[in-house]
Amino acid sequence: MPLIAVTCRHSHQQGVSHIQDAYVQAVEKAGGLPVVLPPSLSPAASVDILSRMDGLFLSGGSDLSPSFFGKPPHPRLGEVEALRDEQEIALVKAALGLGLPIFGICRGMQVINAALGGTILQHIDEDRVGAIQHRQEAPGWHRHHQVEIVPGTMLAAALGPGAIGVNSFHHQVVDQVAPGLTISAASPDGLVEAFESREPWILGVQWHPERMIARYPEFLGLFELFCSQCNNKSMQQ
Ligand code: MN
Repeated sequence: MPLIAVTCRHSHQQGVSHIQDAYVQAVEKAGGLPVVLPPSLSPAASVDILSRMDGLFLSGGSDLSPSFFGKPPHPRLGEVEALRDEQEIALVKAALGLGLPIFGICRGMQVINAALGGTILQHIDEDRVGAIQHRQEAPGWHRHHQVEIVPGTMLAAALGPGAIGVNSFHHQVVDQVAPGLTISAASPDGLVEAFESREPWILGVQWHPERMIARYPEFLGLFELFCSQCNNKSMQQ
């Protein structure tokens, strides 16, 4: 089974790293062996571990520091996990060099975009007129808004083309998509909800499929797609 490097949250106030069960369980259920890398590891040690892995999975979390996409901090910027920012940007760049598949969820998608030269909209409500609500108060499995999946994409192969309901727990979103990435889903207000690349293999989604799997098993398909790519990578070695 492929070894998957999994990133996680870091509380600088408490000096504690932590991860939601749903990420670890989804990777395992999809046929991967998750190896969680706490942000308290140095970027160098994190990259060393990554070089022995078959894929990189970036979980959700708080806001990426806008210094990583060349913007000053917006007044509504939330908590920044500085150690995690440095670790994850280094991991994405290293994964590209190693040719490892990369899958990012929510913040993870935004980190991929910034590492590849794209930008992030720092507060949807103030930065995008006419935006719908993207921070639901409903349970995690609830289909809060629709996304339109672009036909012919890997995402369409996994979930089917057309509209699908997803959850939404973000106040930031990808703005300028980095070179080499293709938008594979958008919300009704035109925000980027998913992107991808076949070579290098990258998948990013703005919603949280891991919180929907118990009720809507089709969302496990995104993890299975990623883990099968990582398995191919591990067979090549
Ligand atoms: Mn959304």
